[in-house]
Amino acid sequence: MRVVQKFGGSSVADAESIKRVAGRIVATRSAGNEVVVVISAMGDTTDELLDLAQQVSPNPRPRELDMLLTAGERMSAALLAMAINDLGADARSFTGSQAGVITTGTHGDARIIDITPGRIVSALSEGDIVIVAGFQGVSQTTKDVTTLGRGASDTTAVALAAALDAAYCEIYSDVDGVFTADPRIVPGARRIPEIGYEDMLELAANGAKILHLRCVEYARRENVPVHVRSSFSDRPGTWVKDMNEEDGMEQPLITGIAHDRSEAKITIVGVPDRVGEAADIFTAVADADINIDMIVQNVSSGDAHATDISFTLAQSDGAKAIAALEAVKARIGFTDVVYNDQVGKVSVVGVGMRSHPGVTARFFRALAEAGINIGMISTSEIRISVVVDIAEVDAAVRAGHTAFGLDAEGEAVVYAGTGR
Ligand code: ASP
Ligand code: MG
Repeated sequence: MRVVQKFGGSSVADAESIKRVAGRIVATRSAGNEVVVVISAMGDTTDELLDLAQQVSPNPRPRELDMLLTAGERMSAALLAMAINDLGADARSFTGSQAGVITTGTHGDARIIDITPGRIVSALSEGDIVIVAGFQGVSQTTKDVTTLGRGASDTTAVALAAALDAAYCEIYSDVDGVFTADPRIVPGARRIPEIGYEDMLELAANGAKILHLRCVEYARRENVPVHVRSSFSDRPGTWVKDMNEEDGMEQPLITGIAHDRSEAKITIVGVPDRVGEAADIFTAVADADINIDMIVQNVSSGDAHATDISFTLAQSDGAKAIAALEAVKARIGFTDVVYNDQVGKVSVVGVGMRSHPGVTARFFRALAEAGINIGMISTSEIRISVVVDIAEVDAAVRAGHTAFGLDAEGEAVVYAGTGR
């Protein structure tokens, strides 16, 4: 069988762990498989390189930043190949560019356009284990080295699995799989043995850090089964895969609960109640290249002929958004812009809610009984999200987890690091 295995930074944090991972890879090869490994940078290397760049230059050019960051994955790839060779197996490391990962030219956030894995295929046919530096590629137009966004080694792995027609893609991290909630918050969170692409997409899009969002999108589009598991144990993890109707029937009402502390809320106070005002406001936000998440509009606290509009966005875009809104304040004629980053989003997710009424009521009742006030609400067909005070995020996750009967007896195992 042909398999792709991806190991995250916490699985290769030092020389000892690199040797341990090497042993695991050789075992897969010895079992008769063709093995392609995608590797992240060691431990916190990427963050350290970013710090270093900051010390040298406050505003480095994105091209040079990508040259720098791709070195992290290149280091771990070469070291891993050496460790495997010392175990008596043959391994060869490749940069993303050598592996044929062709991308757009957007430094720091490039998209994979195509994979031309000629060199990988010939190395495999010569019996080698192939190690590919994750999270990077080469721009189709400029031929410069690019990176695919933080955490994107997952995406490299799934994209390679699709291009190489691998049987499946294993993503190794420091937790046992995808859990019904973050085990650091909910001790009784359970490992989900199998989850459909749709549920996984919603969880990843709403703060579950176990898998990179774009990797799940890719897996769904190319129908690549993904096995998320721990490199620190041999236990089975979570299979992310296409769930057919029959599997769907066995699905619980709620699959899992995600939370996100990285958003902020902006309230625009006293917007004149006229046609086109919302369009003008969000045009200003869009022109500043800012993605928004939830939006709520209601009658202004101060003036019956005005509305308040609140929306959420990434905290990292906060300053930019405020500047953009202040710039149009006089023209549009609203009174104030209020910024609050002391918020968090909690989302219950499950394809099971499609066919069951009462999920929203049950979630909100649980929050009420825990004394938690809801700031904003948004829903999709398979998700209910609320914005709450940041201090109440943990309690809201626990309340939802209990309310939907997800609590288990035993405690989840968390080995190390960040859950990546
Ligand atoms: N090393 C990169 C990061 O830390 C990519 C990855 O780990 O997937 O974001
Ligand atoms: Mg990393």
